[in-house]
Amino acid sequence: MAGAPAAAAAADWMVLLFSPWALALLGLCIGSFLNVVVHRLPTMYMRGWWAFDIADFALADKRSWRSAFGAKAEPPVELAAAAGAINRQLEASPPLSLTSPRSRCPHCGHTLRVSENVPVLSWLVLRGRCSACRAPIGLRYPLVEAATAVLFALCAVVFGPGWMALVACTAVALLLAMALIDLDYTLLPDSLTIPLVVLGLVAALAGISPVAWRDAAAGALVGYGVLWALGVIWAVLLRKPNAMAEGDMKMLAGLGALLGWQVLPGILLVAAGLGSVIGIGLIVFAKHKRETPIPFGPYLALGGVLALLMRERFVAPVEDMLPMLGG
Ligand SMILES: [Zn+2]
Repeated sequence: MAGAPAAAAAADWMVLLFSPWALALLGLCIGSFLNVVVHRLPTMYMRGWWAFDIADFALADKRSWRSAFGAKAEPPVELAAAAGAINRQLEASPPLSLTSPRSRCPHCGHTLRVSENVPVLSWLVLRGRCSACRAPIGLRYPLVEAATAVLFALCAVVFGPGWMALVACTAVALLLAMALIDLDYTLLPDSLTIPLVVLGLVAALAGISPVAWRDAAAGALVGYGVLWALGVIWAVLLRKPNAMAEGDMKMLAGLGALLGWQVLPGILLVAAGLGSVIGIGLIVFAKHKRETPIPFGPYLALGGVLALLMRERFVAPVEDMLPMLGG
């Protein structure tokens, strides 16, 4: 008899915890963390790239030199010197992780106090300037925090109280980080794309997503494969190296795993449509050089967030066409 009121009370807690306001508050904090991720993850990635791909592998590896230029070829001493210089630079650089050191002003190094680190509010109170050196702080910081809050609240509205809302918020946070890092560096780190694939598959297997696990697995494979195939066709037709980045393939695999293969045509239509309109606009109006690669990740993220929040609209046209394909 005592069980029923306790269950009801627990449900009340759930409703409160997963209310749009509570998730918006969580979104503000996660958005603040995303700013750190977007700022530091590329640096951490580039350091790993210099340390492993360049210093340890390309410059210091005698076997790769000999397999390229002949068994008796001796790598020039400059290569070893360059590897040494890179390693000395790496050792001289202070350690960096997502949690340390504490956030500081990039201009003067002033460590932010807790009161200067409140999402959106601190930026407004400080009028977008560092309290120590008055250097301007980009508008992007509060915008990312506000956007994360709004998207988390929308997840609460769309999915209601339950695990799926948390899965959706996690996906939104990963997609935002990918979009911004790709925008800054044309780079989609594995440490963001692979977790989206895993999140989608695990959520489907655990039954906390609207997607059957078969559709999620097919989504991951088709999402990766369709961009890979497009890249190969492109390369063969134009006789150019494959321009499709592997990061984009993994990102679309993640969206397919999260939302099922049925959403992929819609996401690609949205991303390619927006990408061409904005890309042509940039070339025409902002004199963006045509050779400069335009990142695809931000458009995939936009299509993915739309598909997450209105999955039925993306799925319905595909399911309507299935009987026609079958018969
Ligand atoms: Zn400063």
